[in-house]
Amino acid sequence: MDFSLSEEQKMIQQTVRRFVDRELMPLENEVLQSEGKYPTGVEPGLYHELVMKAKEMGFWGINTPEEYGGANLGAMMSALIAMEMGRTLVPFTFGGSADNILYHGNEQQKAEYLIPTIEGTRKSCFALTEPGAGSDPSAIRSTAVKDGNHWVINGQKVFITGGNEADFAMVFAVTDRNKPPQNGGVTCFLVDREMGWTSSYIPTMGDWGPASLYFEDVRVPAKNILGELNKGFDLGMQWIGAGRWRIPAGAIGTAERALQMAVDYAKQRVSMGHPIAEYQAIQWMIADSYVEIEATRWLVLYAAWQAEQGMDARHASSVAKLNGATMANHVIDRVMQIHGGMGYTKELPIERWYRLVRLYRIFEGTDEIQRYIISRNLLRGHVKIGEAL
Ligand SMILES: Cc1cc2nc3c(=O)[nH]c(=O)nc-3n(C[C@H](O)[C@H](O)[C@H](O)COP(=O)(O)OP(=O)(O)OC[C@H]3O[C@@H](n4cnc5c(N)ncnc54)[C@H](O)[C@@H]3O)c2cc1C
Repeated sequence: MDFSLSEEQKMIQQTVRRFVDRELMPLENEVLQSEGKYPTGVEPGLYHELVMKAKEMGFWGINTPEEYGGANLGAMMSALIAMEMGRTLVPFTFGGSADNILYHGNEQQKAEYLIPTIEGTRKSCFALTEPGAGSDPSAIRSTAVKDGNHWVINGQKVFITGGNEADFAMVFAVTDRNKPPQNGGVTCFLVDREMGWTSSYIPTMGDWGPASLYFEDVRVPAKNILGELNKGFDLGMQWIGAGRWRIPAGAIGTAERALQMAVDYAKQRVSMGHPIAEYQAIQWMIADSYVEIEATRWLVLYAAWQAEQGMDARHASSVAKLNGATMANHVIDRVMQIHGGMGYTKELPIERWYRLVRLYRIFEGTDEIQRYIISRNLLRGHVKIGEAL
């Protein structure tokens, strides 16, 4: 067993670290001041400059297959990069990638949706959740009814990330009421905004909100079915499953940076004649935070390693997501506590992180759903206790 990084991994990790330190960290004040103003978190002109710099460095399309002009760095490297990017609250992504399920499109769909998304000229959103169907996507009620060469979609979607900005949506709708949704009753459609859906912004405790999408007799050409008719549910699960270890990977970077702030602050903040770092109450918060961060790191890397090997990484990803979401909330809470009143102000990024990481326990499967998945796998014998090695 070898826990060390390869020379290439170290080199990429250091390059991303420098990009974060030099290009993103200096923008943090601006991002803190302009919360809720821009969908990208940063003034669009400035964001464009960052994109150009990332492209100059050759850091574009890091997860995109080589045949589509990307670097295809793989899951392990993506996890390491996500850890570095999580250190800053400037929400930047090395673009040039597209939703995994768009690769299931036919050649025409790839030309119209996948490639423009990779190139950044079109924006997608993933529309599964509905007012009555979140943790249980099999409860979706949006319908698509065949009418000649078209399907007519009716229904509403909620909490759709990027839904206000998207040019097209991957929409999941019931196409066969006689079959259970998870077993042949649901289809995924590629639906352009021009086909008639509308959206509205949902304010949240985070820095930028998702959207509600509304479909009233939206006519979609039959050629816009993604994948196969009545096979949409599997695609939806594939999309969700792909991201689960990325969330805790980013959380590691955030928690590490916050913990370093707490360590520095504890050494210089004096109370009752001593730096607070000398008090055991503070030392234990620091120690517990460090242990939890390290535990998440290895769970994330294990899930990413499984994904990279082409193994089924769903169980390991649920374990990493549950652990990482809990860890981030514990650590940021302790870091705020160590900073006292200062931690609660908007002068420091801590209160922003506090609000941000709360989401990790809710989206892409709540804590309870991860526990449900993990225990179900164990109870049904899909995963054996202790078989990780
Ligand atoms: C900011 C944000 C962005 C999002 N982006 C997207 C997106 O891009 N696309 C998309 O489709 N969706 C998106 N979502 C939706 C997200 O996936 C759902 O909010 C999430 O799955 C939970 O569903 P719900 O909100 O309906 O809660 P519910 O499912 O109603 O759950 C309410 C509570 O009940 C618990 N619960 C539910 N079922 C069980 C059970 N069987 N056992 C135990 N406890 C249970 C839950 O854990 C939770 O605590 C986003 C949500 C947010 C907040």
